[in-house]
Amino acid sequence: MSKSHKTALDLRSKDDLILVAGAGGFIGGSLVRYFREQGFIRLRAVDKKPLGDWYQRTPGVENLCLDLSREENCRRACEGAAEVYQLAADMGGMGFIERFRVECLRSGLINTHMVEAAWRAGVDRYFFSSSACAYNTDLQKDPKVRALKESDAYPALAERGYGWEKLLSEIFCQEYWAERGLKTFIARFHNVYGPWGTWDGGREKAPAALCRKVIQAKDEGSRRIEVWGDGTQTRSFMYIDDCLKGIDLIAHCDRLIAVPINLGSKELVSVDGLIALIEEAAGVKVERVYDPAAPRGVAGRNSDNTFIRSVFDWEPDTPLRTGLARTYAWIEQQYLDRKAGKRTVS
Ligand code: NAD
Repeated sequence: MSKSHKTALDLRSKDDLILVAGAGGFIGGSLVRYFREQGFIRLRAVDKKPLGDWYQRTPGVENLCLDLSREENCRRACEGAAEVYQLAADMGGMGFIERFRVECLRSGLINTHMVEAAWRAGVDRYFFSSSACAYNTDLQKDPKVRALKESDAYPALAERGYGWEKLLSEIFCQEYWAERGLKTFIARFHNVYGPWGTWDGGREKAPAALCRKVIQAKDEGSRRIEVWGDGTQTRSFMYIDDCLKGIDLIAHCDRLIAVPINLGSKELVSVDGLIALIEEAAGVKVERVYDPAAPRGVAGRNSDNTFIRSVFDWEPDTPLRTGLARTYAWIEQQYLDRKAGKRTVS
């Protein structure tokens, strides 16, 4: 990657206040840790969950429990912030977003109030975590899908609920730049996975859910797992470290102000292929029992990385095999900890 690309370290002073919203969750919690490790000393982490339920808590950070669907809480959260990373959302894997569309749409309250509060507070940079679910679903009907490029969001036919909310919130970001001069940055994440992600409880995504099922099947000796769909659906999965690096690059690239950009891996894999990699990490083979009636999402989705490569000469590149091995090991430890009565993330 060329040195001309800026990150927070290049553009900020170490005592500028950085706000991460949704910091009790997977990506937000990891982002707080990332900035702390870079030496930033004034970090504010906000989430509506009680502190005891946060996935990660980084020492030396101001942690606030606030419901950001309320305008006054967004104002409190943004006070004095130089940069805002808006990752708070009511979301989960297909099992959640197909069943709870109203909850997904209500994240619009968070995004509406947060961007306004950031603008009023005079924030310098505002990052919004959008999603590949904002893309036109008509283009995702074939497992051998053509990778989605940024222009494929329009004409719009987003994922019902969750995807439409993301698309509208993207538009808010674009208009806050056009009309009010707030520098906004919009990344469309494609499935993120890794340690510290949700792995049980109904909001987990396919890689974590399948790791857990394989771990359990191994532990209980059944050697059999239930698979949602018929195993042919395809996706790409981005490792968390790539996601954090991408967020930092995107939020500090002025060429990308108010311009949505894919942040995802282009390594396409079927659900069956994903299970094979998990079996490799686990050192076992399992019998797969398919449930075609279960939530499965679109038939295929991949990230076209032409644009991000052209901007940064970089794209998320952790091989799925490598990231999954780390994720599997972390979930296995969580599983064992829970069995031993210890506190775990999910
Ligand atoms: P997550 O569920 O682990 O974290 C989201 C956090 O937001 C949770 O801790 C939740 O408590 C918090 N939150 C929800 N409503 C809130 C409210 N009203 N006020 C304050 N906090 C609230 O999810 P994640 O995987 O870390 O995702 C972070 C962001 O990235 C989300 O906006 C999500 O839509 C987006 N995204 C994630 C993925 C992925 O694969 N994980 C893919 C595309 C987009």
